[in-house]
Amino acid sequence: MAQLSDDCFAFGGSLLGIDAARAMIFERVTPVAGIERVPLRQALGRTLAEDIAAPIAVPGYDNSAVDGYAVRFDDLHADRATTLRCVDRIAAGHDPAGALGPGVAARIFTGAILPDAADVVIMQEDCERDGDLVTIRPGIKRGANTRRAGEDVARGTIALTAGRRLGPAELGLLAALGFIEVPVRRRLSVALLSTGDEVREPGERLERGQIHDANRFILAGMLERLGVEVTDLGIVRDDQANLGNVLRQAADGHDLIVTSGGVSTGEEDHVRTAIANHGSLYFWRLAIKPGRPVAMGQIGATPLAGLPGNPVAALLTFALVARPMIEALSATTPSVARRFRVVSDFAYKKRAGRREYVRVSLGPAAAGLARATRYHKEGAGMLTSLTETDGLVELPEETTRLEPGAEVDFVPYNELI
Ligand code: AMP
Ligand code: MG
Repeated sequence: MAQLSDDCFAFGGSLLGIDAARAMIFERVTPVAGIERVPLRQALGRTLAEDIAAPIAVPGYDNSAVDGYAVRFDDLHADRATTLRCVDRIAAGHDPAGALGPGVAARIFTGAILPDAADVVIMQEDCERDGDLVTIRPGIKRGANTRRAGEDVARGTIALTAGRRLGPAELGLLAALGFIEVPVRRRLSVALLSTGDEVREPGERLERGQIHDANRFILAGMLERLGVEVTDLGIVRDDQANLGNVLRQAADGHDLIVTSGGVSTGEEDHVRTAIANHGSLYFWRLAIKPGRPVAMGQIGATPLAGLPGNPVAALLTFALVARPMIEALSATTPSVARRFRVVSDFAYKKRAGRREYVRVSLGPAAAGLARATRYHKEGAGMLTSLTETDGLVELPEETTRLEPGAEVDFVPYNELI
């Protein structure tokens, strides 16, 4: 049943492989975003525009990693307890009285300056305190529980390189280095629209044959996570002339256009024709499942990602096509979704020549690897197949069948979106 029309080769001609499509994206899409300086608190999700050299060392001084007692290692007996007199008390943010003399200890707290000559800190849990004497068990290593100046970041080294997307940890590092603002790429502006005469806004009453727009919410969510400014152009009817006008207007003043629906070969699929009429089409079919109909091109000089209408396919092709386009436009270091080995507990047959993605949930480990269970509904329109699973098993082009127990690559959703 429907085998032929479901066959990726049924339309004749060859399909573009995902790796070739990705290479084409990075070849054709060049950075547009200029550079601006923004306060650190506004830099989350932005792309770093320049390498950042450390103006100071982090930490800036030798200090204690624990609450305890700073001593000279050579004062400790190797094979029995050592009792020393406490001569100083050094809290974080305060100076030691001076260098630590021989045969004495200093009470010290986490983050406090390690006095000169002290080269080890013993955790308070490993000491016994009696008046101003402290007794230390043997067995500690020289340097233990100390942090050396510059051990995190040495002054002058490159702490972050241009192209890095700034997440919470990167902002923390920049703050530790003392930056109050940071050079980032201008925020991209992206026009987003859905196509389809059947597609209606959530909240609208549905007539027979109509559906609510799910894709624009999926895609806007993914776009916003990538830190771009989204212009929501709503839903566009399946009308060639109107779609062409909307796309030409969107091309003005946006860095990228993202559409969903209308990219297959049906007569009502107008996106591809609109791209061909008002710009140029680079590809419109990929050798993947789900998501074969996906177009990339440009309207005027503005790149466009024409994603499929089925929500699962829209989400996947956003990750595979639109996201690299955004990275190329914003000079962001391309992200590569990490794959993890898991064991499939299902059998699967596929065609050679296309990459397939199977929605799965992960279960308890078998033979040290997590077990992947296929979702019981498989249509590319099934939204619950996304909300009820953990990620995708990726089956390479050359695979034709999978037996239960086989090791496969798993991509968690958070590596994609
Ligand atoms: P199309 O690619 O336009 O032929 O659409 C393929 C399938 O996806 C059809 O069942 C559409 O009704 C559905 N679809 C298209 N756009 C959306 C959307 N924005 N939200 C949810 N489903 C959609
Ligand atoms: Mg449609």
